[in-house]
Amino acid sequence: MIKPLIIANWKCNPTGIKQAKALFNSVKNGVKGIKRRKVIICPPFIYLPMLKGLSLGAQNCFWEKEGAYTGEISCPMLKSLCQYVLVGHSERRKYFNEKDEINNKLKAVLDAKLIPVLCVGETQEQRNQDKTEAVLKEQIISALDSISSSRFSSVIIAYEPVWAIGTGNPCDVEEAQKMKLLIQKIISKIYSSNISFKTPVLYGGSVKSNNAEGYVKEAGFNGLLVGGASLDAREFIEIVKQAV
Ligand code: PEP
Repeated sequence: MIKPLIIANWKCNPTGIKQAKALFNSVKNGVKGIKRRKVIICPPFIYLPMLKGLSLGAQNCFWEKEGAYTGEISCPMLKSLCQYVLVGHSERRKYFNEKDEINNKLKAVLDAKLIPVLCVGETQEQRNQDKTEAVLKEQIISALDSISSSRFSSVIIAYEPVWAIGTGNPCDVEEAQKMKLLIQKIISKIYSSNISFKTPVLYGGSVKSNNAEGYVKEAGFNGLLVGGASLDAREFIEIVKQAV
């Protein structure tokens, strides 16, 4: 069985190098003794070269390899600094209007032989209108457009209901489990049931140490994507303990 993946998304935090190193080192020391876990830290880009001893991921990337694209960071640049890249996080969709570029980003990550974590999830409004299934289908199908099954084999999917992100209102375990099954059904239609079975699906959205266990042990998620709670080393270490 694959080890549960616990991904920390630090978002645009912390504001100083000293705090970033301190947070990273506390987490590194705290998870040392925990077996059967794969902890991945996704800090802001600039901290990536300074952090050593745990797996790292980027929170975003650009789809072109190089050129006149002021302010962008490409996948070949990330290649020597980290192994994973978050793609299509809801905050990128919301604040930067990302939609069509998600497919290009996913392809760029795969071209660089990095591992993409494709984030999908419905908003509260879409949920209220019973559009969750249609939204997940559309997000997954469009993100995976023209990606062959062999290339898809390294993709990780994170189900992150937008209404649960940063709200303190997590999705209940039973509902999250239904969404995991739905995601697997969508993947199995695009590729095959065998591929869908092997695809890691994570849960993200207000995960804390008091709810982490259920998503992995009851709902069968292959791990967690943790935002706010990953900025508190003790809380994040406790989440890792609960999830393995
Ligand atoms: C996230 O940023 O992906 C996330 C799940 O955030 P939070 O844990 O704060 O809800």
